[in-house]
Amino acid sequence: MEKETIAIHAGYNKKQGNGEMSVPISQTTAYAFRDSEHAANLFALKELGPIYTRLTNPTTDVLEQRFAQLEGGAAAICTSSGQAAIFYAIANVAEAGDNIIISDKLYGGAVTLLTHTIKRFGISAKVFKSDDASNLEELIDDKTKAIFFESLSNPQIAITDVEKVVEIAKRHGVLTICDNTVASAALFNPISWGVDVVVHSTSKYTNGQGTAIGGIVVERDGLAEFFKANSNRYSHFTTPDESYHGLVYTDVPLPNFCLRIRLALLRDIGATQAPFNSWLLIQTLETLGLRVDKHSDNALEVAKFLESHPKVKAVNYPGLKSNKYYDKAQKYFKGGKASGLISFDVESFEEAKRIIDSVKLFSVVVNIGDSKSLITHPASTTHSQMSPEELVKAGVNPVTVRLSIGLENPVDLIEDLNQALN
Ligand SMILES: *Cc1c(COP(=O)(O)O)cnc(C)c1O
Repeated sequence: MEKETIAIHAGYNKKQGNGEMSVPISQTTAYAFRDSEHAANLFALKELGPIYTRLTNPTTDVLEQRFAQLEGGAAAICTSSGQAAIFYAIANVAEAGDNIIISDKLYGGAVTLLTHTIKRFGISAKVFKSDDASNLEELIDDKTKAIFFESLSNPQIAITDVEKVVEIAKRHGVLTICDNTVASAALFNPISWGVDVVVHSTSKYTNGQGTAIGGIVVERDGLAEFFKANSNRYSHFTTPDESYHGLVYTDVPLPNFCLRIRLALLRDIGATQAPFNSWLLIQTLETLGLRVDKHSDNALEVAKFLESHPKVKAVNYPGLKSNKYYDKAQKYFKGGKASGLISFDVESFEEAKRIIDSVKLFSVVVNIGDSKSLITHPASTTHSQMSPEELVKAGVNPVTVRLSIGLENPVDLIEDLNQALN
């Protein structure tokens, strides 16, 4: 099936239940077992079925199957937020004494999680240059458990050299994890480029209307073979899990990565997605392709306008021919479209603040991927606690304004920016 069809039909059998055309919301905590044998079979994985909503839920299950197919993966698992998805993907393979290698261009929440919070769990992070992966190989050692990067990064709007990262990782038998939130499953599918695990904050383009927080982890087919071939690095998957009566994950004929997140991490830490949020995301996923195409087309028009404006010093949008990531956008993303994030530089810090205070249609919001256009000035808001030196290190320029272009008519967006700039 093609993506547009998958997004509307996959993972749901309308012949079950009452034939509901809209996937029903299973707003329930637990599920009655037929008898004690049924219960025992479910816990022993001899039979598959819902036990308790912290672990599985029929509504969430539809979203998981649909999203897995959309990304070309073998399985997916929903989490309560994008941050939880990233944490689970890392904690599924790394423990105290291990290290991970992360991109130098990541979402701020991922940076604090992966460099500060997991350090307190004994997992350290090394940083590679995602533009060309030139220093990646030298950072890999016996304790390296994952390489983590964003396909199209937020807020830097940079595109990783995915092909090179995957080539190096495969040669060393190290797992690759790609955060595909900004490019979205509509424009890019990391698994088709050989990436092992994909994570998303579904709060952004997948939701598209700013109504729910959610996350998802997707794994490629064949990870059991990968773990067996690299069993020194990934012994959690190939040796008995004492917390699950000695289960060896690679012996189970189910996609191993999501299985272990479900049976160990979701069970113990419990960042489960609420069924109602799964239902909301099932609705919005239906239009993901249409929306991301429009976000991209609108953003290109706005970027071209900004590039032509005398008060704008620089525009960063990979859909522009002048952009350093243009060739990568053409290579990796469907139709060369580059999603909805743009940043641009003006003369001064004060001028950037003045523009934020002058827009009428854009909302000043620290979110992205909404149908409503959003504007932020990172230096005076999200990064305002940093010194000028720290801002430079974090790649946050005091004169930079960031836009998340929505689904309004671009004529109105350009008119609003024009009046704010003048
Ligand atoms: C927002 C975002 C996250 C975090 O997702 P939440 O759903 O807010 O927890 C992770 N990665 C990227 C690229 C994001 O934009």
